[in-house]
Amino acid sequence: DITQVRTTQFHDGSTDDIFALTHDPLPDMQEGDVRIRMDTISLDPAMRGWTTNVKSYMPPVQPGDIMRCFGVAEVLESNSKYFQAGDWVTGFLGVQTHGILNQRELRKIDLTYGEPKDFLSGLGMTGYTAYFGMTDIGKPKKGDTVVVSAASGAVGSVASQIAKLAGAYVVGIAGGPEKCAFLKGTLKLDGVIDYKNEDIYEALKRECPKGIDVYFDNVGGQTLEAAISLANYQSQIVICGAISQYGDFSAIQGPANFLKVISSSLKIQGFTMKDYFHLIPEALKYLIAAKQEGKIVFREHMLEGIENFGEAMKMVYAGKNHGKLLLKVAK
Ligand code: NDP
Repeated sequence: DITQVRTTQFHDGSTDDIFALTHDPLPDMQEGDVRIRMDTISLDPAMRGWTTNVKSYMPPVQPGDIMRCFGVAEVLESNSKYFQAGDWVTGFLGVQTHGILNQRELRKIDLTYGEPKDFLSGLGMTGYTAYFGMTDIGKPKKGDTVVVSAASGAVGSVASQIAKLAGAYVVGIAGGPEKCAFLKGTLKLDGVIDYKNEDIYEALKRECPKGIDVYFDNVGGQTLEAAISLANYQSQIVICGAISQYGDFSAIQGPANFLKVISSSLKIQGFTMKDYFHLIPEALKYLIAAKQEGKIVFREHMLEGIENFGEAMKMVYAGKNHGKLLLKVAK
């Protein structure tokens, strides 16, 4: 059964119930097109932004369009000289069980290095984001104090481990005892903060006695403000995401202590993967090696059934995911 998930309206901050299932037949294949069977879909915090009618780094998904998503898929049929039936591909494949995509939209994946799902998790955009944000912008040195928010999540858990591998003293922030136990027990972080059960500023002061040299921010809001308060002279703040602010894009809350950026000569830099597409092979090489050497753990949270897409998306904003949230298309 061919199924698509389409948006019914723009996200306007009032509801996440903006998706409907359709069962439209696939269009005819043109020269350069490939027919795919979707295997696994990636659920990303950016999805709210993609469905909001604001100018951003990508055009918004228009109401009625198939929802944008990263996915991994098997090629069933090809009119492209670059792909053949049996190949596995990734890219913005759309939330659908099957699709016709142009060769330009696809990148081949090599399953000798991992399972299909790994190419949406640690060996995919998640891993690349953590890698470039931490190594190219954060640049932690041995002995630096590095703080990561949403540290048990998809990007945060990989970023934390990369900082540990660089020899830094790493403090992770996450919501709830289970996520904090994972940070301490499995990722072996040096300090852990449960922001849902303790005052974030006091806890950061306790866990970072030498102040903060690198802050890798995934959440923005009050956590960013507390980290700025404890940031050392000329320290680096990496703005990867601001999920606490994704509820209402018309009223983003900035840090009230912003002037400390001047008085402590802080460096704040944001980024998207657009800046790094040409360097993906470098990230992949690092992540494959770290995985094969057992130096890095990719935590995934796998759901099933394309009809559950809308509910799955809500889980990310409710913090109900434990690691990279993925949706296996067929049950
Ligand atoms: P995660 O796997 O980290 O899932 C999101 C987590 O964020 C939740 O599990 C929850 O963890 C936390 N969270 C949710 N709501 C809030 C809130 N209101 N305040 C604080 N924490 C909250 O997702 P990703 O790893 O995919 O994404 C993490 C961040 O990285 C996001 O901000 C995303 O937009 C950004 N990102 C940026 C990219 C880029 O190119 N710059 C690319 C990919 C992601 P907890 O229970 O611990 O609160």
